[in-house]
Amino acid sequence: MHQTVLDRLDESLDLPEDERMVLESVKQLAADKIAPRAADYDRSSIFPQDNIDEMNALGMNAMFVPEAYGGLGLSYTVYLACVREISKACASTGIIWATNFHGMKPVMDFGTEAQKQRILPTIAEGGLGSLCITEPTAGSDATGMKTRFTPKGNDTVVVNGGKIFISNGDVADHLLVFGKWSEIDDPKGAITALVVDKGTPGLNVLRKEEKMGHRAATTVALSFEDMEVSRDNVIGAPGEGLKILLASLNKSRPSVAAQALGIARAAFDDSIAYINDRKQSGRRIIDFQGIQFTLADLATDLAMCEGWLWRIGRMVDAGATDFGIEASMLKMRGSDLAMKISDEAVQLHGGYGYCQDYRVERLMRDAKITQIWEGTNQIHRQLIGRHFAERLR
Ligand SMILES: Cc1cc2nc3c(=O)[nH]c(=O)nc-3n(C[C@H](O)[C@H](O)[C@H](O)COP(=O)(O)OP(=O)(O)OC[C@H]3O[C@@H](n4cnc5c(N)ncnc54)[C@H](O)[C@@H]3O)c2cc1C
Repeated sequence: MHQTVLDRLDESLDLPEDERMVLESVKQLAADKIAPRAADYDRSSIFPQDNIDEMNALGMNAMFVPEAYGGLGLSYTVYLACVREISKACASTGIIWATNFHGMKPVMDFGTEAQKQRILPTIAEGGLGSLCITEPTAGSDATGMKTRFTPKGNDTVVVNGGKIFISNGDVADHLLVFGKWSEIDDPKGAITALVVDKGTPGLNVLRKEEKMGHRAATTVALSFEDMEVSRDNVIGAPGEGLKILLASLNKSRPSVAAQALGIARAAFDDSIAYINDRKQSGRRIIDFQGIQFTLADLATDLAMCEGWLWRIGRMVDAGATDFGIEASMLKMRGSDLAMKISDEAVQLHGGYGYCQDYRVERLMRDAKITQIWEGTNQIHRQLIGRHFAERLR
């Protein structure tokens, strides 16, 4: 196939030689092993352990962990590029891997030296992480959480409550859990973060969700019943949780956008291959002008979003900390685009697109949640809109 403008955009990603080599081997693994297994994992809803093992054999978990803790300390940009590649092949595997980053990045950014020494090597060696915010009373407004952290003596915190919709919640080695510190009255000021290790007595998996898409990635409800956690596991000081939560979401939102853009790119590539081949009325589908108009819009939106993804990657690598609105724009537009392109992809495949022999059927189901998690797109529209409102004196 000829080189397209999207291929040129991929090639223009400016990475140092070692990161380029990592990305190439990830692409190879995604194409050779992960993509061929994706349909079976979607059907069976079985956790894709062989994918995770092979990614770890490539050192992928080590990629985002700093060198001092057994990792490779590679850039955020190459991390985003890898999320996109894996998600293009299998969205479930992509979100399982990205969730490690979402759960453990706050430990890297806000943990003490002792916490990083204890927790991060497990992740670098292939352990899984999880990020636990959502509760029945705390969805779009996370401050409604009711999980309670009660200090017991000087060394222990007793956790009671529960979480819902937790990615990797039943398989994670370390879970970053947000709750409210019992000794602080202010509902927002009480939010605190702590790390819970797998197997801690009182940590229970209540149910596993049956989902529309991302069927091989596990999503569970958890309960915490008089769960005793060492006070050494509190990240930051009691009451610093909201600051940690907001800073973490800024870095996880470009990551979920990269995941959505992987789905979008897969749907786009499949559509192009199909309509270049399929003929009706003696012409290739791609030769109809009505189809070209659709294609032009999708391709242009994709190029704009991918360009914005790499822009945010470079901003973070250059040390930016104030990029919340850029991240919201990317998450909102990237996920809306994943839904739009996968929907059009089914349409462009005609009746075949509605059947499971073609991957676009799965991609459309996988795309939907990207508009909902990590802040629904209504919430991102609100954040972006508010950003332009001048402060009233
Ligand atoms: C598969 C899956 C995986 C997930 N993984 C995780 C995870 O790993 N960790 C975690 O903590 N959470 C996770 N979540 C939870 C997810 O982030 C929440 O579902 C999401 O934030 C929305 O919360 P909610 O479901 O309670 O919806 P609600 O907040 O109840 O929203 C319902 C509707 O109302 C709209 N709405 C709410 N408030 C406003 C407003 N102010 N203005 C306009 N519209 C509004 C919403 O946009 C939505 O359309 C996951 C969810 C799913 C389904």
